[in-house]
Amino acid sequence: MEEQTPLDAAQQPTATGDMDPEAFRRYGHKAVDWIADYLSNAAQYPVLSQLAPGDIRHVLPAKPPEEPESMQQILADFDKQLMPGITHWNAPGFMAYFSNTGSGPGILGEMLTAALNTNAMLWRTSPAATELEQITLDWLRQLLGLPHPMFGVINDTASTGILYALAAAREAIPKLYIRQKGIGGRSDVPRLRLYCSQEAHSAADKAAIVLGVGQEGLRKIGTDNQFRMDVTELERTIEEDLAAGWLPFAVVATVGTTSTTSIDPVPQIADICERHHLWLHVDAAYGGMAAIAPEMRGIMEGCERADSLIVNPHKWLFTPMDCSVLYTRKPEVMKAAFSLIPEFLRTNESLGDETPNLMDYGNALGRRFRSLKLWMILRYFGHEGLAARIREHCRLAQLLSGWLDASPNFERMTPTQFSLVCLRAHPQGMDDEEQLNALNERLMNRINATGRFLLSHTKLHRRFTIRVAIGNLRTSEKDIRDLWTELQEDLVKEI
Ligand SMILES: *Cc1c(COP(=O)(O)O)cnc(C)c1O
Repeated sequence: MEEQTPLDAAQQPTATGDMDPEAFRRYGHKAVDWIADYLSNAAQYPVLSQLAPGDIRHVLPAKPPEEPESMQQILADFDKQLMPGITHWNAPGFMAYFSNTGSGPGILGEMLTAALNTNAMLWRTSPAATELEQITLDWLRQLLGLPHPMFGVINDTASTGILYALAAAREAIPKLYIRQKGIGGRSDVPRLRLYCSQEAHSAADKAAIVLGVGQEGLRKIGTDNQFRMDVTELERTIEEDLAAGWLPFAVVATVGTTSTTSIDPVPQIADICERHHLWLHVDAAYGGMAAIAPEMRGIMEGCERADSLIVNPHKWLFTPMDCSVLYTRKPEVMKAAFSLIPEFLRTNESLGDETPNLMDYGNALGRRFRSLKLWMILRYFGHEGLAARIREHCRLAQLLSGWLDASPNFERMTPTQFSLVCLRAHPQGMDDEEQLNALNERLMNRINATGRFLLSHTKLHRRFTIRVAIGNLRTSEKDIRDLWTELQEDLVKEI
């Protein structure tokens, strides 16, 4: 039988208030110790949770507790019942999707944000939250080498940001008054079209669905042999659509696509957008952060002409989930798309452009104080520290790429531009594509089953491609060497 642990004063039957400060201090220290241990042992866990679907549900009671339970017991159950169901994004062997890091300063920022529990909907509902968001995002703009002025807001994810950006793009269409009148049942509104490449993130599709543009309103443009948008096809498609009575209104270009980190030719796309008066949105959710290293600024060429642009600190800037930054050169259009002030939110401060009510720039009213963790990270590491880490991840990716290129049994599937390596096993003499696909899928599953690494895949021209995404602060050269050894040894076992 479990030992009963004592309840706090705040849990006695007559109590009505919060946990008392001394109890908070005690459990708070326990939690911080737990976090420090966890971060230093992150390599000890199997990266991918080993549980089967439903395992967690079966362990947890189906009914909520009637009586208070001790915090000690709750923390113990967190460890015992929930930790086995965690996939460890903070593990050095996590190289699936895009790796990220909940870094120390970011975790501390999250704790303080939770404690303050502010809602930065209006400037007055926490001036520091609003003004720090503006200052921090202007710092980040400078670190990325983007032009001034660019207005920035933080959203939970890039998927939200692209929806807001494309809502602004829709609002920017002259004389249709879609915000007021909607789209449905109007003979004076042509069908709307926007464009992205076949390699763009599915967030663009979801935005098209939500905005009433529909999946047919999003045209996917083909890519070249390096998975970059074909601008000739883009221009031809726009002209075709215009001739057929569609109304083109936006293009989404990607800097660092999710499958391969390819970079669309943004300067040429910007030319096309200017010629046709289309909103240019750049999705640089992962790849944009590379521009923090000054020698890599070139990847953002043309982005200074974008109407809106997204980078995700929660991807490659060591910021705990969630923190996605949306920049725009046209904040007034974003505001026109979203601002709606009910009486109970009216205020009489005279607010300038630099002290906005941030609820006016999106659908969400309540806004977490997300800039605090980002501010702490930018200060703690500094420009040089951040650039050094991004460079190191790119160096590790180049190292692995070099080994792959020299190996007779593996091949690299795309140029390595950032810290993602796309590869497959291709043993000498085995050229049947179906056989290669099956082999590579087995190889990836075998590696993931070791628990030391977690890799994910994509398909490139129908070829099963293993992605090695390097981006966690705990991933070292030794991890990459071990992964390379594992890949080679496991290949021998699979053929
Ligand atoms: C990850 C990613 C997204 C989606 O980001 P979320 O913040 O998870 O919504 C969008 N675009 C690109 C290019 C990405 O890599």
